[in-house]
Amino acid sequence: MKLVLLGPPGAGKGTLAAFLNKKLDIPHVSTGDMLREEMKNNTLLGQEVKHYVESGGLVPDQVVIKLIENKFSHDKAIDKGYMLDGFPRTKVQAKDLDILLNGLNKPVDYAVYLDASLPVIVERLTGRRICRHCSAIFHVKNNPPKKEGICNRCGGEIYQRPDDNEETIKTRMSVYLKNTKPVIDYYEAQGKLKKVDADRNSQEVQESLMKIVHSIGEHERGCC
Ligand SMILES: [Zn+2]
Repeated sequence: MKLVLLGPPGAGKGTLAAFLNKKLDIPHVSTGDMLREEMKNNTLLGQEVKHYVESGGLVPDQVVIKLIENKFSHDKAIDKGYMLDGFPRTKVQAKDLDILLNGLNKPVDYAVYLDASLPVIVERLTGRRICRHCSAIFHVKNNPPKKEGICNRCGGEIYQRPDDNEETIKTRMSVYLKNTKPVIDYYEAQGKLKKVDADRNSQEVQESLMKIVHSIGEHERGCC
């Protein structure tokens, strides 16, 4: 199954990707992780990425496309399918991605859009706390650490990311929706959009995703 994951920060893409990875054994391809990995390994591409990041600019589309091309041409795990996360975020990117993936004979089957509303996202992100040491994620209400300010897993200090405040979240969300609405329309026009109500808890979201996956499987086997 070849999927693109769409959804604003706080919609639960990371959790869902981990679940699908376990259930279906298809790799989660996060362009954000890939960019960080290239920088860490100090590859030529990584040096280029670092240059953009350090000068405060955006990494150009063509650099990310190149990264995806490298990964999708060489990584055998991708033959089973993929969940692409972090790209595309604009319609231009979606079109470029189609050209690339069609060329590699690995076209997108479906775009899964995790549709979460602003109040829910604000509640999730303003309550989010992260361990400085092991990056474990907590939530003040839904998943509080046993001891306040201390990580359950490693005993490290727990902090709140400075950009997890209501104003910044609202700005991020409006930028996301402005850019991503055309991407959603683009996949919808191709009949590839699967929309999931992501205001619900992660278990309910996972259940509706599995229903979609099964219906796709039946459709592909031509039984109904
Ligand atoms: Zn920790």
